[in-house]
Amino acid sequence: MRAAVFEAPERIVVQDVPDPVCPDGGIVIKVHACGICGSDVRNYHTGLKDGIKSQIMGHEFTGTVAEVGRGVTRFRVGDPVAAAPDVSCGTCYYCRRGYVNLCDNHRMLGTHWPGGFAEYVGIESIVMQHGMIHAVPDGLSLDDAALSEPASSVIACQTDANVSMGDTVLIIGDGPIGCLQIQIARARGASRVIIAGKHRLSIVPRFSPDLIIDGASEDIAKVVREYTDGLGADVAICANRRASSQQPAVDAVRKRGKVVLFGGVSRHEPMTTLNSNTIHYNEITVMGSFSYRAHVHEEALRALADGRITAPAYITRTVDLDGITAGFEAAEAGDALKVLVKPDTR
Ligand SMILES: [Zn+2]
Ligand SMILES: [Zn+2]
Repeated sequence: MRAAVFEAPERIVVQDVPDPVCPDGGIVIKVHACGICGSDVRNYHTGLKDGIKSQIMGHEFTGTVAEVGRGVTRFRVGDPVAAAPDVSCGTCYYCRRGYVNLCDNHRMLGTHWPGGFAEYVGIESIVMQHGMIHAVPDGLSLDDAALSEPASSVIACQTDANVSMGDTVLIIGDGPIGCLQIQIARARGASRVIIAGKHRLSIVPRFSPDLIIDGASEDIAKVVREYTDGLGADVAICANRRASSQQPAVDAVRKRGKVVLFGGVSRHEPMTTLNSNTIHYNEITVMGSFSYRAHVHEEALRALADGRITAPAYITRTVDLDGITAGFEAAEAGDALKVLVKPDTR
């Protein structure tokens, strides 16, 4: 089969590789579409984690079941499926308490196993048991279902932050995640949704935020305070890769407000500076949010199927395997939201 193989930072080579062999207890998926994630772009520049040198990346993929291994009863050949990447061990301290996203032995499709930038993906038995391979609901296209992975992390983030009816939510970051944050905040009943960004401010109006702040020229916290009669936002979500966006979030929330650090920043520059007196005197909660549990992926698929998340509004570009480098560049530039890679199966 053909696959786009990450060989070194900023080098992805499309080549013929052996077809995956269907494992006992596993399946083979014929890939229909695979989204390019912000973390893919980051890894493209800086390399894969855990010292992994080379891999077929891609972890937001959908497809149809092409082969079913011995012992698998959940799926049949031809079933439409969506995959999310995280695989937990099932036995560590966190897994035993249900926090599988925090698994001490956390591994990912597209990093520890070959991912979706290929014609086929083999899914091992452990991934079937402790990963997230779910049926795509009727009426949801395989293109649109590729949004289920990033949508899952946003749903989990706002569930943990308890974004609620009547809340004012500030989102800093205008990429696909920031736009998903708008739609999920609405679905949870937030009354005012504010987005601040620098790169895609011409695209975000299609998601109908109440207020758009130009992060390049405006003082985010000042604008939010003016907009909320001096009070501040209930929740601020940092959905971008820059640690420098975190202090404005602290400045923009009300007393007892919450700041969620959603976006992972560069692993070479992870440090941040926050005004600890603001956090202390205003009793602000600063919390992290990473990944999600399996049932959230199913909820994301339902939210896409019933239109609470409007997937076509996100998919601004589609490339084939040979166009993957251009796809990465588009995902990084300001002119795209979600870029899908659709393997050019012959
Ligand atoms: Zn992703
Ligand atoms: Zn575990």
